[in-house]
Amino acid sequence: MAAQTIGFIGLGTMGLPMAENLVKAGFRVAGFDLSSKACQALAAAGGTVAASCAAAAKDADIVITMLPNASHVREAVLGKDGAAETMSRDAVFINMSTILPQETDAIAAELKARGLRMLDAPVGRSAIEAKRGALLILASGEPADIEYARKAFEAMGNQIVDCGPVGGGSRAKIVNNFMGISLNALTAEALTLAEGAGISIQLALDVMRGTIAGHGHMKVTYPNKVLRGDLSPGFQVDLAHKDLALALEVAARAHVPTFLGAAALQAYSVAKSLGRGGEDYTAIYPVIRQLAGLPEEIPYKPTSDEEYDPFSKPAKD
Ligand code: NAD
Repeated sequence: MAAQTIGFIGLGTMGLPMAENLVKAGFRVAGFDLSSKACQALAAAGGTVAASCAAAAKDADIVITMLPNASHVREAVLGKDGAAETMSRDAVFINMSTILPQETDAIAAELKARGLRMLDAPVGRSAIEAKRGALLILASGEPADIEYARKAFEAMGNQIVDCGPVGGGSRAKIVNNFMGISLNALTAEALTLAEGAGISIQLALDVMRGTIAGHGHMKVTYPNKVLRGDLSPGFQVDLAHKDLALALEVAARAHVPTFLGAAALQAYSVAKSLGRGGEDYTAIYPVIRQLAGLPEEIPYKPTSDEEYDPFSKPAKD
């Protein structure tokens, strides 16, 4: 039978719009949050307010947590008056908060020992997409449980990625955020460097949106070079090292901090020391793998012969 009733715990920046979208999609939603203002907002949107996590989970087909971190999730599910006290064995618990993968594994194991099912389904994107019902949902757990929750996921998101067994979603989310959050800091350094170097932010944006700087290595250099096993130099490590050192000198003269840029130079220096100066600069990837103790061969093969070329001009008439 399709899930119809949802207990939603954590009605904050993300949780409230997610719960509201579930109401709009026709689910009965009983929400709980420590903030009474958040509970009132859900009630105004057509949900009902529960007095505790246990009360929200009672009679629910699906219980969702969208809380700040693992201690909140653990308390809400396994603590006193927690969801596990009242949840039916036919129901599925879904944690959608971002928490340490090992905590996800531990909570899933504890629930399993009590005969309860869990999906781990953190979300990508932000509060804007939460409002639009356009989140990316990193669903992991038993395939039958993911199917059971699919309609609820579709009410909250527009892209559902199957991340394998429970814990896979948390792992994918952490890796994704590592990249997105680090790039945010690198972007701030680059735009500050632009001003320090004496060019406008507008000019820097125009230039970088037309190069790999703005497009990202995953879309261009990695699939065309290192992930294909091709380290013939498109742009040599030696030259990348030289150019990054130039940027750091310009930054130093302008008193612009370049925390991440300086750290990246160390990686290129190591690549040179390991004799890879003449290789393509994506050789940084096997260098980092080597430092992590991973085998030389990258366990990935591109699945198509597709050319990654976002910079090609449209054909002229
Ligand atoms: P938030 O702080 O806005 O909301 C958390 C809510 O949980 C608050 O309303 C708080 O009152 C409530 N709460 C805390 N402990 C509780 C408990 N024991 N019982 C009931 N309610 C409790 O946080 P958010 O931005 O909505 O983020 C929630 C989760 O989603 C986090 O793990 C975050 O990392 C993740 N996330 C956030 C974003 C984002 O852009 N904000 C994007 C993706 C994922």
